[in-house]
Amino acid sequence: MKKLTTGNGCRPALSLHVMETPFPERGSELWLGKPAPRYTSYPPAPFFTSDVGANAYANALRQTAPDAPVSLYVHIPFCNSLCLYCGCNTIITNRAERINPYLSALAQEMAHVGGLLGTRRVSHLHFGGGTPNALTDNQMRTIFEGIRTHFDLSSVGEIAMELDPRHVTPEQARTLVACGVSRVSLGAQDFNLEVQRTINRVQPYELVAQVCDWLREAGLTRINLDLMYGLPKQTPETIADTARRVSALAPDRVALFSYAHVPSLKKHQKALEAQGLPDLTTRLAMEQTARQILTESGYAEIGIDHFAKPSDPLAKAWKNGQWHRNFQGYTEDSAETLIGLGVSAISQTPDGYFQGEHETGPYLEAVTANRLPIRRGYLLTAEDRLRRAIIEALMCVLACDLDALCAAHGFDVETLAEDLARLRPYEEAGLVTREGFVIRLATERRMAVRAVCKEFDPHSRGSNLLSSRTA
Ligand code: SF4
Repeated sequence: MKKLTTGNGCRPALSLHVMETPFPERGSELWLGKPAPRYTSYPPAPFFTSDVGANAYANALRQTAPDAPVSLYVHIPFCNSLCLYCGCNTIITNRAERINPYLSALAQEMAHVGGLLGTRRVSHLHFGGGTPNALTDNQMRTIFEGIRTHFDLSSVGEIAMELDPRHVTPEQARTLVACGVSRVSLGAQDFNLEVQRTINRVQPYELVAQVCDWLREAGLTRINLDLMYGLPKQTPETIADTARRVSALAPDRVALFSYAHVPSLKKHQKALEAQGLPDLTTRLAMEQTARQILTESGYAEIGIDHFAKPSDPLAKAWKNGQWHRNFQGYTEDSAETLIGLGVSAISQTPDGYFQGEHETGPYLEAVTANRLPIRRGYLLTAEDRLRRAIIEALMCVLACDLDALCAAHGFDVETLAEDLARLRPYEEAGLVTREGFVIRLATERRMAVRAVCKEFDPHSRGSNLLSSRTA
């Protein structure tokens, strides 16, 4: 495949003005405010079906190459309180002992999967949630013991964990390091206190700064911060202030996510509507403002919503054309097989996708009955693999050599004639350029690429199924 890369960041002087957004922009009617998947998989998870279950997953696991490393994802669904913007699969509890049966089930699931795979080398281990650091130090050590029993972590490249800064203590930071955690992502979202009160997540800047100090003192120096725009009470000015403070904390990576408002799925999000959600023009201005501040602070832009210091492994991998996208977002991890453990976790093998039970009841029931707790999945066709490669390239580097990808997947590029015809309005509006069969996003609005990807996605085209709006 022809190597396509994005530009790299540089470090000019910091300027902190808020971007003025001319509106409407040419071609914005093609993408702005339109529902489109975030494409952490292709096909997106709403198109998985219950026809594909535990047996298909077991077969797919057995067919993975025995010497190939796997990536592991562990879902810890517990949180102490509910953030009103939350779109995750979470259970609210303050009782740590409620978590123990779930940890026992996780150990059983690991044993089951480990039995099918053999003690497989792990290239990357990621804990997400929920709130993984809702676990006590003892629970944390227990879960790591289980993983080390069934998987080989001796050559793991990275162990990453999503943290709620409100739970971090100096002791917990030391426990994480002792367990082998080497990267953490802190959900910062926004440092404005009025915004924090509105979304029911109060964590002042000073608290997050203190947590960064504790983590670094304990030896955990790879820190990511996650931000969110599009929330009530946010303005381009509050986002500018947050982005400036984030830069001062000097995380290695920053993720700048747009708030996905899907109250039909997440009823608690309704409460945010009453507080007034920013309109699309304001959302664009927020994104542009934060992006400018972060790039002027020396961060390289990765894909549509990530930023990394040029010295960070993700930025280096990007520069070398070694980009990937999976359920955790952008990654330098190249494992073909990703094993998801826990409720709602999604596994990916060369054959397809397999998602776990969404609720803890059916999950615990399946695991204790010694069944793989798979609720639904999807088996890829040859054409799905081609389309997945096109969409991954577009989402990662905003460009794609269609001819090269068709050749690599055994297809004639004419297979994509209708898709290319659908791209013409994007070309005419100046959103996409095309040289032969190489297409590139030509607007600085990187999130517009989600709409371009949708033109290559026969599952999502004509369907607004569970997609958030693009902006
Ligand atoms: S901490 Fe994260 S997972 Fe838990 S409620 Fe808040 S946003 Fe959702």
